[in-house]
Amino acid sequence: MFELTFLGTAASAPLPKRGLSSVIVAHDEHRFMVDCGEGTQRQLLSSGLGFRRLEHILITHPHLDHILGLAGILSTLGQWETLDHMNIYGGQSALDRIEDLINRIVFRGTRPPIEINLIAIQPGFVFQGDDFDIVAFPVRHRGPDCFGFVFQEHSRRPFLNEKANALGVPQGPERRTLVKGLPITLADGRVIYPDDVLGELQPGTKLVITGDIGEIDGLERIARNAHALITEATYMESDAEIARQNGHITAAQAARLAQRAGVQQLILTHISGRYRERDLEAEARAIFPNTVIARDFDTFKIKALRDVPKPVE
Ligand SMILES: [Zn+2]
Ligand SMILES: [Zn+2]
Repeated sequence: MFELTFLGTAASAPLPKRGLSSVIVAHDEHRFMVDCGEGTQRQLLSSGLGFRRLEHILITHPHLDHILGLAGILSTLGQWETLDHMNIYGGQSALDRIEDLINRIVFRGTRPPIEINLIAIQPGFVFQGDDFDIVAFPVRHRGPDCFGFVFQEHSRRPFLNEKANALGVPQGPERRTLVKGLPITLADGRVIYPDDVLGELQPGTKLVITGDIGEIDGLERIARNAHALITEATYMESDAEIARQNGHITAAQAARLAQRAGVQQLILTHISGRYRERDLEAEARAIFPNTVIARDFDTFKIKALRDVPKPVE
């Protein structure tokens, strides 16, 4: 399961009730921030999440509404020294700009008090955990080095406690060995094989975050069967031509992508103040009914299986 907390959901400039782009994706003890628009540190505090375990920040692209918040966060962390290192992942263009921000502005003339690792990403693995991976994929927006991210739990076979109990498999390390796919020998000499106690292979949860995008072509395959697709809806279809010129998509395009990719839920962000939220939502829902427009501080639990994730009250 992935747990999302939206910290900022506005497009390009903040709105009274929406900060600039940032979302936290949590998986067990891991926490990833995706994008870090201006004001994100205050949103992080208001959300109750705080700076704890903020070691990984993924940047989709170099535009200022997605990176300026890094300056404030690094400045604060530099004073508090609550973290000893931070990994910032992004395309080379984003990292070049972030490096200027860090070395020429925030820590100008001094050594950063925490270790900051700028990690250049290419399409492919960005992070490989024990039970999930993060993969970057290229998107077309404005300028080079724009990426989206797929968070994918590994497929696994559930452990069938009832069968294990019936076979007399003790609680403890024996069960972990079976989960890893290795046989065990019981005290009475019987050998228990993984197939005896493991269920059918179940796909893990898949979460796709596209960042800003100027077209949906080519993304259907990447978002295929995702349990949640988070994408932008900067414009409505009535302004499709302006959207195209500015390298953004409309709510209707986002919904068509969700429909074609067969995702479970569509969550829209990067919302402009020029439209009423309910109009944007209606445009998307007419095509893909299971759409929500994220608001700042909304949280969602994204799970595999066919139960539909809902905002947590
Ligand atoms: Zn943007
Ligand atoms: Zn952008």
